[in-house]
Amino acid sequence: MKKIIQDLSKEELSACIKPAFRAKQIYHWVYHKYASSFEEMKNLPKEMRETLATTYTLSPLKQVMVQDSKDGSRKYLYELHDGHTVEAVLLLMKDKVYHEDGTLKHQERYTVCISSQVGCKVGCAFCLTAKGGFMRNLTAGEIVEQVRLIKKDKHIDANRRVNIVYMGMGEPLDNLEAVVKSVKIFADEEGMAIATHRQTISTSGLSTKIEKLGKMELGINLAISLHAVDDALRQQLMPINKAYNIASIINAVKHFPVNDRKRVMFEYLVIKDVNDDISAAKKLLSLLDGIKAKVNLIYFNPYGGSTFKRPSVEDMQMFQSYLTSRGLHCTIRESKGLDISAACGQLREQALEGAKDA
Ligand code: SF4
Repeated sequence: MKKIIQDLSKEELSACIKPAFRAKQIYHWVYHKYASSFEEMKNLPKEMRETLATTYTLSPLKQVMVQDSKDGSRKYLYELHDGHTVEAVLLLMKDKVYHEDGTLKHQERYTVCISSQVGCKVGCAFCLTAKGGFMRNLTAGEIVEQVRLIKKDKHIDANRRVNIVYMGMGEPLDNLEAVVKSVKIFADEEGMAIATHRQTISTSGLSTKIEKLGKMELGINLAISLHAVDDALRQQLMPINKAYNIASIINAVKHFPVNDRKRVMFEYLVIKDVNDDISAAKKLLSLLDGIKAKVNLIYFNPYGGSTFKRPSVEDMQMFQSYLTSRGLHCTIRESKGLDISAACGQLREQALEGAKDA
């Protein structure tokens, strides 16, 4: 089987390809010109292009399905070389705003939500990915390729800033080595140059791995899927809580290096009549006391077969204002891409169902 060229950091590529400036040229073709074949790399000698083509592939993922949302989000389903599929989502965060003279004030902000594993071992009760079980880890190149293909698909200029969130399928800290490598490949100045402070790792709270990641001092942002404020409920929603309880997560976060201008994001999936009352908000406030935290409230995104329900707008706002009035940064995440089932795992699930029906 051919090796995936996106698995290689620039240093690794330079070690295999001589002279070293050729590695830079290849990097440029891959991450700036979004090349899909070595044949396109016309400034490389023909012989080198042929050797590269016999050793490496540039296409570890194949796009098999796309869904567009009314809000501009686009969801992708990719097939890997072994037939497994993973999802990635492009989210548009802001509309274009113009100055009075017609010049552009703000551009849309692109955020790409990517997968780190095929399936997931964590088994959250509200998650469709969990229902399919765990298949395998993605390699660094398979992670990197999701962003490269999306940039190519949407004609996003190589120098245009994008944010990355490791919040698609899988638990990124359960695939720490490949994820960290992909973070570094994304950040390479001669590649996509997506600075680590534009990248966020979202975890279900593997506290020992949070500590390990923190010690690497990557400058990356951290988001924790907390969702509940007491262990009994959290265990019900996220069985992983048995191994990594709330106290261990809070303790690990307290030691995580946070960029001066950033906060640790705590994701709180609000489920109607499960965790949407003021007593939960009160507990959340005391739990996060002393942490540079920000809470992101997420409407539970209903899907077929789920017994959980979406909370009312009023309850959501009450929850938020309780926290903000007491000094905690708290936002309500817009349900981007609700009409295209943008919660992780939902597109893949539809495709698998479709395949079964076919
Ligand atoms: S929500 Fe995330 S961590 Fe939980 S099972 Fe789904 S993919 Fe895994």
